[in-house]
Parts: sequence; structure tokens; C-alpha cells
Amino acid sequence: MSKQHALLSASSAHRWLKCTAAPQMEQKFPDTTSTYAAEGTLAHSIAELKLRAYAVEPMSHATFTRRLNKLKKDELYQAEMDGYTETYLDYIKGILLSYDVKPYVVAEKRVDFSCYVPQGFGTADCLIMAHDELHVVDFKYGKGVPVAAANNPQMRLYALGALAAYQLLYQFKVVHMHIVQPRINNFSQETLGVDILKAWAADVVAPKAQEAASKDGGAFNPGEWCRFCRAKAQCKARAEAYAQYADVAHEKRDMTMITMSELGDYLKTAKLLKDWADDLQEYAQSCAMKGIHVPGWKLVEGRGSRVFTDMDAAFSKLMENGIDESVLYERVPLTLAKTEKAIGKKLFADLCDEFIERKPGKPALVPESDKRPALDLTPKATDVFKPIDEKGDH
Ligand code: SF4
Repeated sequence: MSKQHALLSASSAHRWLKCTAAPQMEQKFPDTTSTYAAEGTLAHSIAELKLRAYAVEPMSHATFTRRLNKLKKDELYQAEMDGYTETYLDYIKGILLSYDVKPYVVAEKRVDFSCYVPQGFGTADCLIMAHDELHVVDFKYGKGVPVAAANNPQMRLYALGALAAYQLLYQFKVVHMHIVQPRINNFSQETLGVDILKAWAADVVAPKAQEAASKDGGAFNPGEWCRFCRAKAQCKARAEAYAQYADVAHEKRDMTMITMSELGDYLKTAKLLKDWADDLQEYAQSCAMKGIHVPGWKLVEGRGSRVFTDMDAAFSKLMENGIDESVLYERVPLTLAKTEKAIGKKLFADLCDEFIERKPGKPALVPESDKRPALDLTPKATDVFKPIDEKGDH
């Protein structure tokens, strides 16, 4: 993956299309790379190697194994990465096999969409070109939030870059954008006509990109997209937007009970306020830890804990004094998820599938925009009309 970062990156487009001030604000803050991101980079490298070996630059088994083993030496490598990257490869194989003639495949392609976004470029994980159809496939290793391909500006910008790169060789009419997020079984797709995609780029993206790159720094617009903004804890526009909720509540003072419609609205606001409060708490604590006084707040010692200085020596002494080993040690089996992680998804499925019962999750209240279908709570006929007991007991 490219180490360079554009001011208006494809991955942050969902934010700068809403808040054009974000890119220039974010430049004031360091770009911290988490372990999760480093893990994702390694998984991407394995996925890329497998894709190259299969469809881009066939290599000998020995070369493939040597390169794979080198990646496996990384301290962040886990057996499950092998299975998840296989799922990504299988997904791509599925696309390739749906064509009679093998399409042209490119891996890790730097794409340039600067005709719509100043200095805009990014790296597409996989491009597949077949006659008048272009496929853009993105491998996501995160497992926090399912990423949808529909209305996904990152995917669309990659597609625009790919269209620009191959426009002399192909007359594309349709673009299929795919997200493969194997750790949470999320496979999402959007198909758009090239004309529609280019119209979106010209009408929506280009004006916002110009605004975001302008000397006056763009316009602030706080919302749920602040969540991954590097300025989220210190941004005054966000703070003022949330602080004004308190004033509105005071003005509308009403002693009756809230309606269902108000409940829905208040929940949305409360969720945004909670996220903001968490960001403020984290930022204030980091300032206090550096010795910066935050008026009205102080650092105190949290709840302490006790630890053995030498557990082996302590246990030996306990056993010498008659305490049985079985009292001191527990033999605890791994959870299903940890077992799968330890041995890899494929082997786990092959050996354990017959022992797994899939139970539905607990009902969860989520915003209507969530991709999952709503639970059907209407009573079933079998619940309403109970069968008469076969033994005839009434
Ligand atoms: S925190 Fe929100 S409002 Fe502030 S710059 Fe970032 S995206 Fe814009």
C-alpha cells in the first residue's frame, strides 16, 4: 500500500464530502497508526501475494511459499489471516470464473482521480477488466463496522481513477464495486453505469473537493462523520454544535412526557453527544497526563490491584505447605472464537462444523440506516392458535 497521503484521500472522502473543513483541520494533528492498522497492512500484503500468484504474475510454488513464509514471520501474523485472505481470493475467483474469457486483473494499482479531486490518488486492491465492465474490489480487514459498497465514495473514487487509467484500452459502460470484509462475513456490492458515476463526480465531488482544498479551508459541518476525524476532540465547530443542544432543551421546557417520535430524535442526539463526551474525556485525560491543567478536573489514582512478584515461587511454597495443585490451576477451554483464531478458519470449519449450533443474537436497537433487516415481531399463526393437546387434556 502506498505510504503517501493525499490531502483529499479516497478513504476520508465520506468525511470531506460532508465537512469540507476536515482535511485542513486534520493536518494539524499527527496521523497515528494503530496495531489494528498494521495488522490490516500485513493481511493486505498476504492477500496481494495470493492474488498476484493466482491471476497477475504466475510464480513457481517455491517462490510463492518463500514470499508467504517471509510475511508469516511478521510478529503480527496470525493463522486466521491465511483463511481470510483465501476468502478474498475465492471471491475474486468467483468474478473471474463468471466470464467466458479470462478478464485482465491488476493488483494494488495506484489510481489517480485528480481530474475531479486536486492531487487525488489512492491504491485499489484489485481491478478486473472484462469487455465493457470494470470491477473494483476492496479488501477490508477491519471487523468493527460492516462497510457497505452502496454510496461508498472511496470505492467510487477508485473506480473513477481506474476509468481514467484504462480509458484508452477499454470502453467501460458499467462499474461493479465490491467490498470483501471476511472477518465479519460482509460481502457488499454496488453496480453503477459509468455515466452516472461521472455525473456524481462532476456534480457532487468536484465542487466539494475544490471547497476543501481552497485557501479559506472549507466549511465546518459536524455530524456522525466526525467519529474518525483527527480533530474530533478539539474541533470547536463540533463542540459548539453539541453545546447548543442544551440551550434548545432549556427553551423547549415542557413537563409532559416525550412522544415516540421525540424518543427517536433524542436517541440520535444522545448517541452523538456520548461519542463527543468520550472523545473529550480521552483528550482531557491525555492533557492531564502531560501535566497540563484542565480547569475543574484533576488526575487521581484509580482502583489498585495486587500481583505476584514471582508466581512460580509463591505456588511452589503453597504446594510445599499442602495446598493441592488442582486448587491452584484451572484448565479452561478456549472459546469458539479463540479456537478458530488459533487454528485458522478453514481447518476449524473442516473439523468442527458438525459441533456448532448457530444461535441468533440478542435484539439490538440500531438506527434505521443500518443494513441489517428489521426483526419481524408480528405473532406467528402457530403462536396465536395453539394446537389442542394430542392426549386430549383440556
Ligand atoms: S471534527 Fe467534525 S466538524 Fe470538526 S473538522 Fe472534523 S469532521 Fe469537521
